[in-house]
Amino acid sequence: MRNFFSRLMYGRYGSDALNLFLLVVGLVLYLLGVFIPLKVLSLLFRLVGYAAILFTIYRMWSRNYTRRREENDQFIRLITPAVQGLQRKRAQMRDKDHVYFHCPSCGQILRVPKGKNRISITCRNCGTVFQKKT
Ligand SMILES: [Zn+2]
Repeated sequence: MRNFFSRLMYGRYGSDALNLFLLVVGLVLYLLGVFIPLKVLSLLFRLVGYAAILFTIYRMWSRNYTRRREENDQFIRLITPAVQGLQRKRAQMRDKDHVYFHCPSCGQILRVPKGKNRISITCRNCGTVFQKKT
């Protein structure tokens, strides 16, 4: 059986981050479509869900490695800023010893110790001084 699948997928592109994303989006849209009471909206969600799942299967079975890899690279470039932003937010929320502020002048993120009451912060990037309560 394992040998059968190995032969079946030989020379095929397989899976990547974009495929996983498309599969999850497709399944979520399809399930939403199943539970939405509005007939037109339900049909639309299920059709778009089907399309995403079919595109995932098409990409997995594709032999055009170059094109599929380009698509995946574009997808990674597109989502990287959002993923990094979420990771930074998560790290800031976990940090119990510091408070984070944006510089009002340049937008630089500044980290200051927590529990110092009212302090004056100097931006390392542009030198702007502002007061904040920590
Ligand atoms: Zn600044």
